[in-house]
Amino acid sequence: MASFVRKTGKLIAAGCTALLLANAAFAEPPAIQKPSSKADMQAALSGGVSGDRWKEGLLFEGVSPMPWLKSAANWFPGTEDIQPEEMRVTFMGTSPSIRPGQMNTSIYVELGNGDSFVFDMGEGAVANYVAARVALNQINHVFITHLHVDHFGSLPYLWMFGTWAGGWHEQLTVHGPSGRTPEYGTAKMVEGMKTMLGWHVDAFSVFPAGKGWDIKVNEFDFRDNGGVVYEKNGVKVIHWQRSHAKDGASGYRLDWNGMCFVWTGDGRPSNLDIKYAKGCDLYVTEMQTELVEIGSGVQGVPPFLARYTIDTHHTPAYAAGYLANQIKPRMFMTTHMPFDPYQNEEAVAEIREHWKGPFHFGAPDGIVVNMTKDQVWVREGILPDYPNNRSPQFDFSNGQLVVPLPPTSREKIQEPFVREQQIDPKKYYPKGYHPHLLEEWPVKSDLVVPLDSLPENLKGSMGEAWRLKQKNLKALEAKGK
Ligand SMILES: [Zn+2]
Ligand SMILES: [Zn+2]
Repeated sequence: MASFVRKTGKLIAAGCTALLLANAAFAEPPAIQKPSSKADMQAALSGGVSGDRWKEGLLFEGVSPMPWLKSAANWFPGTEDIQPEEMRVTFMGTSPSIRPGQMNTSIYVELGNGDSFVFDMGEGAVANYVAARVALNQINHVFITHLHVDHFGSLPYLWMFGTWAGGWHEQLTVHGPSGRTPEYGTAKMVEGMKTMLGWHVDAFSVFPAGKGWDIKVNEFDFRDNGGVVYEKNGVKVIHWQRSHAKDGASGYRLDWNGMCFVWTGDGRPSNLDIKYAKGCDLYVTEMQTELVEIGSGVQGVPPFLARYTIDTHHTPAYAAGYLANQIKPRMFMTTHMPFDPYQNEEAVAEIREHWKGPFHFGAPDGIVVNMTKDQVWVREGILPDYPNNRSPQFDFSNGQLVVPLPPTSREKIQEPFVREQQIDPKKYYPKGYHPHLLEEWPVKSDLVVPLDSLPENLKGSMGEAWRLKQKNLKALEAKGK
């Protein structure tokens, strides 16, 4: 800033006058003034408030921010503990086509009892988990709706780097449907992924792995509509078939603590959705806005490809609203959708043809839903572009940190020649600077560190989720849950 003015004996930038005046206001305590009349206070403080005189906008009873939210407009990762009775749902990937603001589909469900679940793990979604301060070793259960790659593309990365980043004590379980024949089932996909990652697994075996490499598959019969996929700690997940051009596409419903979340995955609107999602609190469906002609104009492609894709695979916005009106959730959301200004208003108009209740887009990436039994609130999450990884989270119930011995070493998986060609560090480190290089794993067996030997900062950061879980479980126990 070029222009300076002289004020109160100090040089300040002209644009900072307001700030200076604001600071000046704190120089001495405010003077006490005569209170306004009761009538004036009443007129000002309740002016414009409906009371029960009229219904305000499209907000409904129970759709309101909870008192513990730091901001009712935005969610800032790491600033709010999940409450004991709460379900928090974050949209980590929201579109079938990847672009910077919308990764491939993934929905993160956190429960007040400390459990968390991932529904679909589309390409790129890992970046948003990292930005949302989810340690990759906190992800232990991934439910895949179907095997289109936009719903599982991040699995290889999650498995490899999640193991590297502390996924040593609990293996990753992938839940997913069978196919009509075994080669189209989830187990076969994971087997293929293992083959694809052969080199990577062996290479990363110079690091601790523990149970990390023992990926588990829970493949269920896709025809077993209403079948239970998962049941533990009061959490139950069921599945049903979706009509998505090929057999082996499923929808999921999670029930916990008297609340319910549905993610349909992809598919045409169906009676099965109504049957299994009926009355659910948070109903999330995939949705394609039916703007085929406009969309084709914008994208510069012939409209029949979109038309054919929607009509054979997807839920158009009119149908999404129709389904919501049958299911009658406390909050209805759509995701796996383009989030574009030229489409959004139309999408809402199409949805509103049938559904007049609470509705939000589950897009773009980072949308957060807080839900309790009486309240639900949807906000924009602020996901940073350059976050750090959250430190790995460990269960410290046994009072120790255990770092497993790596399964292999460089000597076992690399011929000596190329290692011998490495330049002598003395040649590039400046005089007087030579770090102690860790060229061998420093211990010969599992490293077991009692908690009281662990530096405070590490104990604090790596036990954060575990401590919150203990606290919430105690609160739930006190309420007899
Ligand atoms: Zn998809
Ligand atoms: Zn699909």
